[in-house]
Amino acid sequence: MSKRDYYEVLGVSKDASERDIKKAYKRLAMQFHPDRTKGDKSKEEQFKEVKEAYEILNDDQKRAAYDQYGHAAFEQGGHGGGGGGFGGGGFGQDFGDIFGDIFGGGGGRGRQRQQRGSDLRYNVELSLEDAVKGKSLEIKVPTYVACEPCDGSGAKPGTSAKTCSTCHGHGQVQMRQGLFAVQQTCPTCNGQGKVISDPCTSCRGQGRVEKTKTLSVKIPAGVDTGDRIRLSGEGEAGEHGAPAGDLYVQVNVRDHEIFVRDENHLYCEVPISFTTAALGGEIEVPTLGGKVKLKVPKETQTSKMFRLRGKGVKSVRSSSTGDLMCKVVIETPVNLSGDQSDLLRQLEEKMGKSSKKHSPKETGFFDGVKKFFDDLKS
Ligand SMILES: [Zn+2]
Ligand SMILES: [Zn+2]
Repeated sequence: MSKRDYYEVLGVSKDASERDIKKAYKRLAMQFHPDRTKGDKSKEEQFKEVKEAYEILNDDQKRAAYDQYGHAAFEQGGHGGGGGGFGGGGFGQDFGDIFGDIFGGGGGRGRQRQQRGSDLRYNVELSLEDAVKGKSLEIKVPTYVACEPCDGSGAKPGTSAKTCSTCHGHGQVQMRQGLFAVQQTCPTCNGQGKVISDPCTSCRGQGRVEKTKTLSVKIPAGVDTGDRIRLSGEGEAGEHGAPAGDLYVQVNVRDHEIFVRDENHLYCEVPISFTTAALGGEIEVPTLGGKVKLKVPKETQTSKMFRLRGKGVKSVRSSSTGDLMCKVVIETPVNLSGDQSDLLRQLEEKMGKSSKKHSPKETGFFDGVKKFFDDLKS
């Protein structure tokens, strides 16, 4: 089933204000809330749909992502694929929260007092070279920061928030529902325990404002795909002066043209001529630190692996360094001239007289094949 457009679900226009979205949500949520529509499945579905739409459109980042990518923004794998990406923090509230929203008159956040700001994730793609050597980066992160004029309090400078008279600062009140008394988020202060009568105009009482922060990040040498670097306190600022979340820089290392990395070892393949393989010689092998010479002994067979100790990646977690595993692959000569072909044929003829000596593997193999067929016959 294809999903309905979130704006359509809430019955608001694409440029609806935060306030309009909240209003629409409250109206619909009241209408479809399971407590009111007891057991009506289709209404329950509608309620879920409304709640989902609201959760996206009420969050500036998620709304922006939705405006740009549609529903795909929130599907598995459809988010933050390439390059520098950006993902929001925790998703989804539990069902019960809705009362807090409906009666609270405020946003869905801030149910608990002093709720820490969300953690953020920033995806960074590195070349293998940068991952191995480490790198300092500047990143731009759209986030919330504490509002300066009110110093995060949300109250107009010179004034301060008053203790909520409904809950006496507890943030929770007892409410009767039939026979039961239930603890609920205080509707007056929305769980904050304080009421701002004169909100700061810069942050509209939120205590934080949206801002794109520029941060420098030091990526340590040796990181690999899946590693993340935590920048403590660099996530979103909390509301009303609550502590900020953390920012996680998530590392993804691009594939390399020459090297394949496995933990701290590197693997590469180097083609060599069949004469070098037969007679021995010195070849040049690439490493991340430049070319090095490698002695190939005579009678080297194809796919032979040479280990260059300490030429891999220095571990980000310990002092050990991996090795470079270099596989030599014999390249069959191509585009031979007539003369060259003749010489090869002469060589072949000369060796043919004692093939057992020159090609023990081949001889052994065909002896094995012969025995195999002989055994079949008997
Ligand atoms: Zn402010
Ligand atoms: Zn209160």
